[in-house]
Amino acid sequence: MLRDSLKKMSTELLDVVNYQLNINGENHLMNDYLEKKIKISWKGLVICHCGKVMRKLFRSGFCYSCYWTLPEASPSIFKPELCTAHLNIEERDLKWEKEFQLTNHYVYLANSSGIKVGITRASQGVIRWMDQGASQAILLAKVPNRRFSGDIEVALKPYVSDKTNWRKMLSGEPNFVDLVRVKHELMKYVPSKLKKYILSDDNVTEVRYPVKQYPKKIKSVKLEKSSTIEGLLLGIKGQYLILDQDRVFNVRSHEGFIVDFTVKD
Ligand SMILES: [Zn+2]
Repeated sequence: MLRDSLKKMSTELLDVVNYQLNINGENHLMNDYLEKKIKISWKGLVICHCGKVMRKLFRSGFCYSCYWTLPEASPSIFKPELCTAHLNIEERDLKWEKEFQLTNHYVYLANSSGIKVGITRASQGVIRWMDQGASQAILLAKVPNRRFSGDIEVALKPYVSDKTNWRKMLSGEPNFVDLVRVKHELMKYVPSKLKKYILSDDNVTEVRYPVKQYPKKIKSVKLEKSSTIEGLLLGIKGQYLILDQDRVFNVRSHEGFIVDFTVKD
C-alpha cells in the first residue's frame, strides 16, 4: 500500500536538477516527461506514516494520533529554537530527538523568491535547496546541533525572511543576489557565543531547474478539489510540477495520497 502513495520527488544536482518520482513500484525520470501529458488520479484515500489508511490526514502529513504523539511531529520540528536534546531534556522521545538533533546542522542563505535564511541537517544541504526551488545558496554557519541553528535563524529573522514565497518562486527566475555580500552583512547579528561556528567558505551554489515555461497567473491545483489532475508538464521547480493553463501541483503537500500516475507520449 505504501508504495502507491505520493512522496516528494528525489533530486540530484546536475546541470539542471534531475527529478525522480517513485510510485506504484516504478521510478519515473520526471525530466523526461517535459512537454508530455501526465495524469495523477486520486482514489480518495490517504495513508499516514504509521500505515493507517483514511480519507484525510490531520496536519503536516500525519494522522491525528501521530501528530500529537510522534517525535517527528513535535513542536521543535516546526520551531528548531525549541530543541532541548542537547540539554538532555525530552520533548516526546529523547532517544529519537538525540539522534535527530545532535548532529551537524547548517544555517544557510538562499535566493528562491528573494533572500531567506534556513536551516538543514548537514547531510541534507543541497537537497533542501532544491526542494525549496532556490536558485542560489550559500552556507553561513555549521553548528553541532539543531538548537544552535535555530538560535541563529531566530537572530537573523528580523533582517531576512525565513519563508519562501512559492508564488514568486514559481513565476520565474529570481533577481541575482550577491549572497557573499549579504552573508557578510548578516554575520554581525549571529549571537556572540555562536560566532565561532560561522563558515569562512563563501562558495555560492547555483541551481537550475527543468522549466520550459513559467506560469503567468498561478493556479494551485489540489487533489481534494479535483481527484484527477491531467495536463502537459511544462516544468519542475522545488517540489512543484508546472502544468499547462498556468497550473502548479505541489507534490510535497500531497504526500500520503494514494494515486495512480501515468504518462502519455
Ligand atoms: Zn499516523
